[in-house]
Amino acid sequence: MLKYIHSHLRWKIFLSYMVVIFVGVVVLATATEFVAPAAFNRHVSDMETVMQEVASGQMPAIDLQKSLFASFHAAVSEAIAFSVLAASVAAIIAGYLVTRQLISPIHDMMEASNRIADGHYDERVGVPGNPATGEIDELAQLAVSFNRMASALEKNEEIRRRLIGDVSHELRTPLATIKGYMEGLIDGVLPPEPGTFQKVRREASRLQRLVDDLQELSRVEAGSYILQKCGMPVMALVEATVARLAPQFAEKGVALETDIPSGLPEVVVDEDRIGQVMLNLVGNALQYTPPGRTVRIRARRTQNKVQITIEDTGVGIPPEHLPHIFDRFYRVDKSRSRAGGGSGIGLTIAKHLVEAHSGRIWAESEGRGKGSMFIFTLPVR
Ligand code: ADP
Repeated sequence: MLKYIHSHLRWKIFLSYMVVIFVGVVVLATATEFVAPAAFNRHVSDMETVMQEVASGQMPAIDLQKSLFASFHAAVSEAIAFSVLAASVAAIIAGYLVTRQLISPIHDMMEASNRIADGHYDERVGVPGNPATGEIDELAQLAVSFNRMASALEKNEEIRRRLIGDVSHELRTPLATIKGYMEGLIDGVLPPEPGTFQKVRREASRLQRLVDDLQELSRVEAGSYILQKCGMPVMALVEATVARLAPQFAEKGVALETDIPSGLPEVVVDEDRIGQVMLNLVGNALQYTPPGRTVRIRARRTQNKVQITIEDTGVGIPPEHLPHIFDRFYRVDKSRSRAGGGSGIGLTIAKHLVEAHSGRIWAESEGRGKGSMFIFTLPVR
């Protein structure tokens, strides 16, 4: 019962009214008890005087009733006036204390929201009640939501700040290269021939890819896309990727093999999004595998998931880089990846998309030159 009241604001407000009324009534009764006898004593002595005056003939008997009534009325009025005054003061004090108790979380939240609006994103409010025992009312729930909102704002602000830093850093290199070529051309140091213009164009394309990837990343990070999930066979997913990339594999002379068992259950995915993940991982495998080697796509069932592995026999990833490989703009070999047009965002996007499907993605590698494996899980129907 007490827990129920603790966790419902309307019952608390109702009880607070009851408390105020109770305090008022108790004070009214107590004050009447104390004030009434004194008032009556005083007025009874007036009545005695009147009665003596009537008995001695100083006052006509006809005025007796009127005088007695006047004294009685004065005694009652005085008792009521004092008691009501005392009860009102007590009710006001009780009302103030109870209301302050109820309002203080709202007041805290108001102050915290003002501080957040001023840019202090680390601001949080205390949660009234006892969340451990589940005794949290609507105000406490509001405080919890408020803190969640503040954390989200703080995280977004942190992402925004880091993103601006990273993006400026990433834009600087191609822009400096383009500027260098243009200055070379203007000063006559570089010959105005197709080769030079090709180099400028390559840098511009890199910038464009970076901007496209950033746009995609911001969409994915903000979660501003809708997953249109449906059940589909793993084989279809893999075949679509193979069909898209087979020409590039053939051109580079890297073999692409698949090993998909026939009895696998269907996975529930957004075909385009997971297709994007596959393209990214298999595309990376191709990029980091020298000609003459092999890339293999495997799938197998684990509990209630299907696990897809893209295994290459390429440059590998040193163990110290493995934990960072999915971070935005992280590249193991910066100059090589950049030269290959890599923005270092592909894996970050892939991670977001796999996690949006309640899956997990990770990388394994024995080290430099020993190939890499990228593994991710997908939910089954
Ligand atoms: P990028 O566009 O630079 O390839 P990614 O986010 O896709 O960006 O990859 C981040 C980094 O991870 C790459 O720069 C590369 O150093 C490393 N990497 C990704 N895939 C592989 C792989 N199959 N083999 C070796 N290194 C890889």
